[in-house]
Amino acid sequence: MSISTRVIRFVQNELIQSGHRIGSVDGRLGPNTEKALRKELADRAAELPPGWESWPRTRLFTAYVQLRCREEGVNPGAIDGLWGSQTDYAVNVIRERIQNNLTAPNFRDNEELDPHRPHPWPRQTQEEVRAFFGNVGTHQTMLDLPYTHRLAWDKNVLINRYSCHEKVHDSLNRILTRVHEHYGEERIIELRLDLFGGCFNKRKKKGGSTWSMHAWGVAVDYDPENNQFRWGWDRASFARPEYDAWWKIWEEEGWTGLGRSRNYDWMHIQAPHL
Ligand SMILES: [Zn+2]
Repeated sequence: MSISTRVIRFVQNELIQSGHRIGSVDGRLGPNTEKALRKELADRAAELPPGWESWPRTRLFTAYVQLRCREEGVNPGAIDGLWGSQTDYAVNVIRERIQNNLTAPNFRDNEELDPHRPHPWPRQTQEEVRAFFGNVGTHQTMLDLPYTHRLAWDKNVLINRYSCHEKVHDSLNRILTRVHEHYGEERIIELRLDLFGGCFNKRKKKGGSTWSMHAWGVAVDYDPENNQFRWGWDRASFARPEYDAWWKIWEEEGWTGLGRSRNYDWMHIQAPHL
């Protein structure tokens, strides 16, 4: 049982999404990947056996994979850095889940969210989204923001409007107006509800061939730095109780947060439901 390049690529993608500069996703365990793994493991040192720092690269990689599986709720066996059938099975479960965006367990109970919520929006399949919103990149309009935003990756850049699909325009406007009324300017900045991570962006899904909801301008990202793609509720700031009102406001307009429903990508909120 050996580590496949497919699994290495998957981990390299995650490391890049977490902000590590590892160069290209090449499926090889090179020195830059090792450096990134060491940083990630150092953050989780309490969960590792003593002496892990002196492990060779493949063992560090394996330990990282085992911890990721455990974070995703799939049992990888002991966190020992040794690749076995249990680890191999577990990582393929989480890889499928994350890459295909399909079978992640619901973070919140479906019963709690779904039946009581209106769904004014289509489901997130490419066909249903296209039927409802048209082709990717069409019907875009500018939303004048009820409160000033800052660009998440360059906070000196102030934003007073952004592009979205014309069918979500009024809903977004109501949501952000309510957010503004509920929290007020100061609290919005404190809670980083003004850090804009992007709305319309004609691109494919991460690691996939289908269009992202951003390609229709019907999804928006907030505070990506503190709500990174693979972070769960234990790390993502939007999972904290002070954001309950934020989520309630979005959900009352029928929007879906991936964090709330699938416990990853907490930055991402979309109109189409899952
Ligand atoms: Zn997004």
